[in-house]
Amino acid sequence: MRLFAAVLPPAHPLGQLAERMGRLRELPDADRLRWTGPDDWHFTLAFYGEVPEEALPELQERLGRAAHRCAAYELRIAGGGRFGDRVVWAGADGDRPAMRRLADAAEAAGRRAGLPMGEHRPYTPHLTLARKRTGRLDLVPYAAALAGFSGSAWTVTELALMRSHPPAPGVPGSRPRYEPLARWRLEG
Ligand code: ATP
Ligand code: MG
Repeated sequence: MRLFAAVLPPAHPLGQLAERMGRLRELPDADRLRWTGPDDWHFTLAFYGEVPEEALPELQERLGRAAHRCAAYELRIAGGGRFGDRVVWAGADGDRPAMRRLADAAEAAGRRAGLPMGEHRPYTPHLTLARKRTGRLDLVPYAAALAGFSGSAWTVTELALMRSHPPAPGVPGSRPRYEPLARWRLEG
């Protein structure tokens, strides 16, 4: 199964971002992007890829220990950007060093559970808002429309292990679905 670790924002800041996203969706060519919604929004901490069933208990054990060591921290959804011409995202502000430590701990949990943690992207906490479908599209105006956005702060108190159900192949508009498998309180 396809797994990743994430921080899930609470409903209030998700609603604030959804409201702001309304502006982005009114920009020219917005319909050429595939938009995500509040139910999809999560901050990925570590990506595990395809994990065999038998590795799950150890991964859960390790993630539990990681959460035990890491402290709760303040976060808000703020600003945004783009990855090249492919992805528009909303960013994070607040105790980013603590977020980084949690991401490192989630990554280490995967490694210690024996998962091949292969490719490393530079860690940029983000919520994916839209992906380009086809063709050329300048995403700068979308990122610019998020500048100055700052949602309400909350305290991150949990780490979640998420399962990603890939979209049905060949079904236009179908999206991956994310399901929380387990959550642990940050107790460090
Ligand atoms: P899709 O792949 O259909 O565009 P998705 O990327 O949201 O959707 P997954 O590929 O299952 O779905 O990824 C789940 C989460 O893990 C997403 O937040 C995604 O950005 C992140 N992710 C995926 N691959 C990596 C990777 N190699 N490194 C870091 N994060 C990743
Ligand atoms: Mg993906």
